[in-house]
Amino acid sequence: MAEFAPAGGFTMPAVKDMPEGGHDCDGCRGDGVYYGDGYVNNGKFVGFTGTCFRCSGKGWQDDRDIARNRCYDRHRRYA
Ligand SMILES: [Zn+2]
Repeated sequence: MAEFAPAGGFTMPAVKDMPEGGHDCDGCRGDGVYYGDGYVNNGKFVGFTGTCFRCSGKGWQDDRDIARNRCYDRHRRYA
């Protein structure tokens, strides 16, 4: 059997189930968690993490999330 565990044993939170009509989140990996600056130390993510604001931590987006994100993107300033 092949070994699929990532180096260091770092495991990401499980991707959440997306209901019918849901959309992939473009702000996270589907786990509802936003990862900021950080690094992996002894298999643990060290750094800033938070709830993904684009899907409210659901891991997927519904139509309301998409509408809100569109609005947000329009007003976002790229420095
Ligand atoms: Zn997300």
